[in-house]
Amino acid sequence: MKGTPPVARKPREHGLSTLAVHGGRDHLDPDSPVSHPIYQSVNFVQEVGTAEGLRYTRYGNSPNAELVQRRVAALEGGEAALVLASGMGATACALLALLRPGDHLLASSWIYGGTHKLFTQEFVSMGIDVTLVEPVESRGWRKRMRKQTRAIFLESPVNPTCRVLDLNSVRYLTKENGLALVVDSTFASPINFRPLEHGADVVIHSATKYLNGHHDVLGGVVVGTAPYIEEVRQKMIVWGQAPDPFACWLLERGMKTLDVRVRRQNDNAMRVAEWAAKRKEIRKAHYPGLADHPDHEVARTQLDGFGGMLAIELTGGGKAADRFIRRLKLCTHAASLGGVDTLVSEPRYTSHAHLTSDERARIGIPDGFLRFSIGVEDADDLIADLDQALG
Ligand code: PLP
Repeated sequence: MKGTPPVARKPREHGLSTLAVHGGRDHLDPDSPVSHPIYQSVNFVQEVGTAEGLRYTRYGNSPNAELVQRRVAALEGGEAALVLASGMGATACALLALLRPGDHLLASSWIYGGTHKLFTQEFVSMGIDVTLVEPVESRGWRKRMRKQTRAIFLESPVNPTCRVLDLNSVRYLTKENGLALVVDSTFASPINFRPLEHGADVVIHSATKYLNGHHDVLGGVVVGTAPYIEEVRQKMIVWGQAPDPFACWLLERGMKTLDVRVRRQNDNAMRVAEWAAKRKEIRKAHYPGLADHPDHEVARTQLDGFGGMLAIELTGGGKAADRFIRRLKLCTHAASLGGVDTLVSEPRYTSHAHLTSDERARIGIPDGFLRFSIGVEDADDLIADLDQALG
């Protein structure tokens, strides 16, 4: 194996809801407060005469960071996890721990815009070669593999089209060739999908999204084997990507309700998708839970829930989209996703603003395409709001 972390799975001791509340905590200590306190200090008193036990927030070993790390590792079924200052920080450090100048990365072309920039601009300027692959092309990954290929990176479900990738078709290739399979699982959250159970070696999340769930924290996490996570930590230390203890505290508090939030978001999104599929003003509803979604079968067999993300294409194009968004009263027009408030965004003004209208249409994002991150409101109220905005 060429520097590939071996599979990092650990059996789960409790259900996901229990782990979301208690994972990583030690309740046996009689002095232990129910709510984990914030240790808002960058440093801690150090023992004399030893280098052991040195705590400094940038090293990723503040008590609040460590609790988040243990909890995320437990939820994903991984050996270890690291919490970082953002999802981008997590992606950058996770891959810098795997790749050296001269190495080759195979990456899905269906990835978040920031990740695309990191790979095609930053990594390339560092001497790391990157090939983008259309992930559903038959034998596409295999055809583009090289002797120097070290890792395959993909995102599933995909932002913003809500396509779901079949990990089975990639895992054989990565295992056979000793490559690391790295999955950005932000859209799913560990409640709907745990990539390590499907052959991935490394899992990344923008914790800004579902893990925190309240639109008030920026963060990222990486999950993998303990030795690999230690390498990611070393990258985080020198690139200065560690989060503040308060961000970790908010993240840990948000994670307690992860399971109930995501299940509610799954249910709400299904209701909204079914409504959208029936409206004549909507040319198409993109939701993996709908039977006509191109990846419905993959989603049904690999995911535990179809997710809170969906997209619609308005028949009236860009003009109709602007009008629709202006009329919304409950759903908020804002970037980001995964929180308790329902958000709507237009990729032509956000993640895909760098492309022309024709280029976007070619990759399945025509003008009039709207992405929804469904929250935990009452589904009836959400549908009523969408209904009046179409009218
Ligand atoms: N990965 C995905 C799928 C995303 O949607 C985003 C942000 O939207 C990121 C990574 C980057 O996360 P962050 O904004 O926390 O850096």
